[in-house]
Amino acid sequence: MTDTSLSKLQHEFCLKPTQADGLRIITNDSSNVFEAIEKGQQFVTIAAMDHEELNNKEKVAAMDANFKELMDLENRVRNQTLTLNALSDRIKAGEKIKDIMVPYKQVQKLFEDKWNDNDKRYNVSDKYSTFRQNIWNIHHPDEIMPSLDENEDDDIVMGSTKISLRCPLTTAWLEDPVTSNICKHTFSRAAIINLLRQSGGSVPCPIPGCNKQIVNLCLIADDTMVERVRRARERDELNASTTQFFDVD
Ligand SMILES: [Zn+2]
Repeated sequence: MTDTSLSKLQHEFCLKPTQADGLRIITNDSSNVFEAIEKGQQFVTIAAMDHEELNNKEKVAAMDANFKELMDLENRVRNQTLTLNALSDRIKAGEKIKDIMVPYKQVQKLFEDKWNDNDKRYNVSDKYSTFRQNIWNIHHPDEIMPSLDENEDDDIVMGSTKISLRCPLTTAWLEDPVTSNICKHTFSRAAIINLLRQSGGSVPCPIPGCNKQIVNLCLIADDTMVERVRRARERDELNASTTQFFDVD
């Protein structure tokens, strides 16, 4: 991860291209970084939902900027992995690299430029649109968020899926929700774990039209969803008690 280990490796790789895989090993712990970023994004999402509830537009905008910064960071870490993998391939292919930092910076810059030059980099991301959807649903609980892309066809807007707060397996409110980090579908933990147990540890995603495979490891606790279910249930109970009050009358 650090410059010292990089330059140390650099020397070995010049001499022993067979050890190019070592470059890939440097990025092995990046999954911890991704987890930390994910946690940070959930935290920012919940804060943004709170500010939206209070109609504090400036604070929501600040949270939006924070969320995007975390996405940039996530992209940078991912690019580091891609860069080191690309260099590892080049060394394996017999390229003699004297100072690894030179091609490292070149390749890293290519990936960074590709990210920064894309105006739609946030809007096309499922992660960002889920973030916006969570904010949108504060004041529009049962509505599909309008497309983030102004030029998008109406058809596509109509086709976007509403995030359900009910477990597709139990049809009850999501309980201890977990989201697949592969297809982003959410389930009550006990229900999906039970299904996995019955299916030998791996099952195609039960959402119609999604054929991604689900395994235990891809299920991540979803704090944002916990928060959304809590708010929706509160709203439901409030509506129910108001109805009751008028029924008595
Ligand atoms: Zn799915």
